[in-house]
Amino acid sequence: MIPRENVRFSKRVKSMQQGEDKVIITFEDGEVVTAAAVVGSDGIKGPTRKYVLGDRYPEEVSPTYSGKYVYRSIIPMKDALEIIGEHAGDSKTFLGHDVNFITFPISRGTQCNLVAFKYSDKPWTHHQLTKRVTKEEMVADFSEGVDKRLVKLLDWADPLQWSLHHHMNTPTYYNNRICLLGDSAHATTPHQASGAGQCIEDALVLSHVLGKVADHKQLPFAFEAYDAIRRPRGQKVVRTSQEAGQLYSFSHPEFGEDMDKIVDNFNQRFLWIWEHDLEGDLMQVEKLFSKLCDAA
Ligand SMILES: Cc1cc2nc3c(=O)[nH]c(=O)nc-3n(C[C@H](O)[C@H](O)[C@H](O)COP(=O)(O)OP(=O)(O)OC[C@H]3O[C@@H](n4cnc5c(N)ncnc54)[C@H](O)[C@@H]3O)c2cc1C
Repeated sequence: MIPRENVRFSKRVKSMQQGEDKVIITFEDGEVVTAAAVVGSDGIKGPTRKYVLGDRYPEEVSPTYSGKYVYRSIIPMKDALEIIGEHAGDSKTFLGHDVNFITFPISRGTQCNLVAFKYSDKPWTHHQLTKRVTKEEMVADFSEGVDKRLVKLLDWADPLQWSLHHHMNTPTYYNNRICLLGDSAHATTPHQASGAGQCIEDALVLSHVLGKVADHKQLPFAFEAYDAIRRPRGQKVVRTSQEAGQLYSFSHPEFGEDMDKIVDNFNQRFLWIWEHDLEGDLMQVEKLFSKLCDAA
């Protein structure tokens, strides 16, 4: 679909400069490229966000700490089955006070993937998003009130804390000819397993509306229409995911430890994400784009 000569690998963007109808991109290898527009799908820490939000919303450029970090572990399935029995063969979430564990089979069922969440009200002060600790420090994070079988699964974990940051507020996904897509727009905590799904929805809607652009002057209208359709939904995922984390850790102000209420909530809280009318989004973005072009 994309001509091979238009794809370049191993390039890192150093800076961008926006003119009225073009963007000049400087790469770290010194190459300078002029483009009609830039779509930055460069992740939670990528540079594009600064060029979209920096002038108008400087406080929203950097991701904010969500109040939790995770350890990750991959356990041979035979060991996981010995430790947590039949729970290992299926996707499972284990809830606790200020902690939660998720496990699910990977590698055609030969391995069990574990993500162990630790909630903390202390700020993340480390200069990087990940922080190496000792095995003892990792285990100490789960020393109180956690089933010892789950703690045992950490025997296979790398004692590396992965802080979970997010973009809770993104006041716009574009600035004239520069646009955000994926985590650069709406990095989220993983409690609803929807971050990558939202990136794909962005790509679907944006590629559809860009396909309608007949003249480069219409590019900002395409970005405006994309922003109007995608941003409310993308940011709602970020907000509701943070709330889901409160449910998993018994810290939600309304639900607390009430498992009946929590289970009821989880049985319906994902439906708006899973059953969304994407065809409807495509129709809406196209309609809005035409309206903006006609009004210009
Ligand atoms: C613990 C955890 C569990 C998750 N589980 C799920 C899940 O179950 N389901 C789900 O849908 N999502 C999940 N996610 C979220 C998902 O991983 C992300 O939403 C998704 O990977 C984001 O894709 P992206 O392409 O926007 O960004 P990224 O995957 O971060 O890619 C950004 C790319 O941009 C590149 N880049 C950065 N800076 C520059 C530069 N200056 N120049 C050039 N390139 C640059 C990077 O090298 C990278 O290749 C999870 C996330 C975490 C942390």
